[in-house]
Amino acid sequence: MKINMAEAITNCLHLGGLRVSPKMEFRCPACEERLDLEGVGQWVRVAERERDEAYSMVEGDEFGRIAFEESQREVYRRRGILYEIQNVPQVVAAKPEMVLVSFEDDGSSGVYECKIFYKEPRPESGVDTLSVEADIEAIWELRSDPSPVIRSVADKIWEFHEERRVANREDVALFRRTFYAKEL
Ligand SMILES: [Zn+2]
Repeated sequence: MKINMAEAITNCLHLGGLRVSPKMEFRCPACEERLDLEGVGQWVRVAERERDEAYSMVEGDEFGRIAFEESQREVYRRRGILYEIQNVPQVVAAKPEMVLVSFEDDGSSGVYECKIFYKEPRPESGVDTLSVEADIEAIWELRSDPSPVIRSVADKIWEFHEERRVANREDVALFRRTFYAKEL
């Protein structure tokens, strides 16, 4: 099989990361593609979309699950590069010990209320409550938060949101779920 070079280049995953040039462009040393900050943001969103598509195909399929986990790792890798570029201080946030997500019916789309528990001593900068509208857009926005703790909690909210949606189709109402450290 012949490898199409042009295709290989456009499909470059910029695995070596991106280098900053004097004009504030970010260059991939492997394929020489140049991106501005907005371009890097879009590159992250492409991976997020692919991950979300992979997630929708997970149901009961081990291959789907593996593809989803791979695409999730790719999202984290790209976000890592983006945050490095943005110089967002990566708070070395302690990982939560447990997250409790509950759904509160507020008459419209509902709200997810989260309680986040840490191992003692509780980290000073640790977020311990979080609430978000039970709406895909709102949850997705939270999943791009600069804080790794909030992103990981948001991923769990989303997981629960999907679970509720599937359960609702079978007339089962789910109101709360607990996630433990190893799932976060
Ligand atoms: Zn590249």
